[in-house]
Amino acid sequence: MQYHLNGFRSGDPSVSTTCDVNDHPADAVDVVIVGCGPAGLTLAAQLAVFPDISTMIAERKPGPLEVGQADGIACRSVEMFEAFGFAEKVLKESYWVNEVVFWRPDAFGAGLARADRIQDVEDDLSEMPHVILNQARVHDFYLEQMRNGPRGLIPDYNRQLKSLHRTDDPYYPITACFDCLDKPGEPQTVRAKYVVGCDGARSAVRKSMGHQLKGEAARQLWGVMDVLAVTDFPDIRLKAAIQSADNGSILIIPREGGYMVRMYIELDELHGEERATDRNVTGEMLIEKAQAILAPYTLDVKEVAWWSAYEIGQRVCDAFDDVPATERGKTQPRIFIAGDACHTHSPKAGQGMNVSMADTFNLGWKLAAVLRGQAKPHLLDTYSDERRAKAKELIDFDKDMARLFSAKPKDETEAAQFQRYFKKHGRYTAGVETRYNPSVLTTTRRYQSLAEGYETGMRFHSSSVVRLADGKPMQLGHVLKADGRWRLIAFAPSDDLGAEGGAIDQLCAHLAGKLLPRFTPENADIDAVFDVRAVFQAAHQDMDLNTLPDLLLPRKGRYSLIDYEKAFCPDLKNGPDIFDHRGIDRAQGALLIVRPDQFVSGVLPLTALQELAAFFDGFMLPVQNGGA
Ligand SMILES: Cc1cc2nc3c(=O)[nH]c(=O)nc-3n(C[C@H](O)[C@H](O)[C@H](O)COP(=O)(O)OP(=O)(O)OC[C@H]3O[C@@H](n4cnc5c(N)ncnc54)[C@H](O)[C@@H]3O)c2cc1C
Repeated sequence: MQYHLNGFRSGDPSVSTTCDVNDHPADAVDVVIVGCGPAGLTLAAQLAVFPDISTMIAERKPGPLEVGQADGIACRSVEMFEAFGFAEKVLKESYWVNEVVFWRPDAFGAGLARADRIQDVEDDLSEMPHVILNQARVHDFYLEQMRNGPRGLIPDYNRQLKSLHRTDDPYYPITACFDCLDKPGEPQTVRAKYVVGCDGARSAVRKSMGHQLKGEAARQLWGVMDVLAVTDFPDIRLKAAIQSADNGSILIIPREGGYMVRMYIELDELHGEERATDRNVTGEMLIEKAQAILAPYTLDVKEVAWWSAYEIGQRVCDAFDDVPATERGKTQPRIFIAGDACHTHSPKAGQGMNVSMADTFNLGWKLAAVLRGQAKPHLLDTYSDERRAKAKELIDFDKDMARLFSAKPKDETEAAQFQRYFKKHGRYTAGVETRYNPSVLTTTRRYQSLAEGYETGMRFHSSSVVRLADGKPMQLGHVLKADGRWRLIAFAPSDDLGAEGGAIDQLCAHLAGKLLPRFTPENADIDAVFDVRAVFQAAHQDMDLNTLPDLLLPRKGRYSLIDYEKAFCPDLKNGPDIFDHRGIDRAQGALLIVRPDQFVSGVLPLTALQELAAFFDGFMLPVQNGGA
């Protein structure tokens, strides 16, 4: 973490000086977010990073979520939390899912037997673990992040969205009307440039656009309870999928803190307009059902911390914004939906919260880039295109998973099939399988062989390195912060130590002279829009800092202090060498274009300067005072 750039400041460095650049009328903001769930809070935390963007986040509840709902946090989400700066807190509090066990009826049909025990996340899928933590705590971390961000954002509670209208206002074309639940009869009207509906499965924003969730008519009813219990079931501190002979199935998820356990108990399907409440499920019913499934093991529930009868279908919307298919490319999207508002999943694959956060991590930087005049508005079309395709894919996966989980295995072969499927799709559940198709933001795979381990269209896969200036062993991925900046990561050819005339020096000279000034405001730091980093092949002790090009030791801030954190070397002591680990062409090196949401837009040769410029010209806007 870097701080003190513009002068020494005492106190907690993660608390920014709030700079409210208020150039809006009192009743208008850049972005209205509806809903303080994981999707809304991820977006709010992202936008709070930009002091020049005004955001209102409205929530109908009277205050933050305190208990319940989702709890599974995929590896990819923890990587994203790292980018926001609170992964360590999550890792400290959470339960880490290391292994999964599968139980099914024993050979005599009278009891249960452990059928398999597997590693939960395959090796080197991510530097982050799969963890379990109450959704309310995730909300807390986001709220803290928003509060401490440069914009100092806090939600407006007790605001229930009533209606949304497009108007002729050229600056704030969307009007949102809220009922103020704490002031009955005094509605609030807010004008906005963009509105994002993160308002859950019964989204009012979605309805205002006339979109519908489409998919299975039947919805599965789940009983979920968080309990403190005494049991002789031996795997109570492992994630356990248990299929009983005659009483159905249960998924056990150990929870944070060492004692609490979540149990997902599959109940019946709901049909038509039938709601979970119609079934009159009670906490006692869930306990009895869990006891029956676990028998002959005992379950003595001492306290139910939270329970819910939770209905969910696997559904997805046709579009995630307000532009009709025939108008795509001609009309700018102004209203978006994210998270459960546009796709719903069963809890078995643990996707709901994770995919919802991933949606708005995708949207946040794009909105910021367009609002700040850095990108053309058509960049926003990529949100619906990218995220809808992924939601659809995940729902197909989720359906298979749900079917296999519910089906009572007829024999050993079927049971083994479920276990194989579970293993194979660990990548989906870990959230690292997302691959965006070629588009204005994703290049072709023409030069993929230069960096085989950095798949074009997929998230940047971290690896260990040593920071050149101070010899710190660290994860390269952890320099990719959620600050809206693009990363250009140059991997040096074997004999290049950064000296004058080498490939890295020539690339840096071009970037500093042409590409960066074209898109970076004149009075901003040179890395304000593009953060250029280099990784060399030599051991860090064999490199000389003074030979690095200026762009890798940029002068920044009011004192023109030197930023020493741009250059890295392989971690040869602890290994593996990043060049081998991620398949970098040692002879030619490689240049990675990494999006602000950590996805690899493309791999290029270090010399492909025209292709690099053409890529950014495709969606970015040059600054008025720009260079070439
Ligand atoms: C009761 C319940 C239990 C769940 N249990 C589990 C579980 O056990 N496991 C699991 O994996 N997932 C569970 N989920 C699903 C998981 O919580 C969601 O997938 C995830 O929270 C989706 O995030 P989101 O931000 O899209 O929507 P939500 O988390 O649903 O957030 C939407 C927010 O919008 C607010 N809102 C809605 N309408 C308006 C309006 N008109 N105006 C203002 N605010 C509005 C809501 O109050 C809510 O805070 C559960 C969801 C619910 C509702």
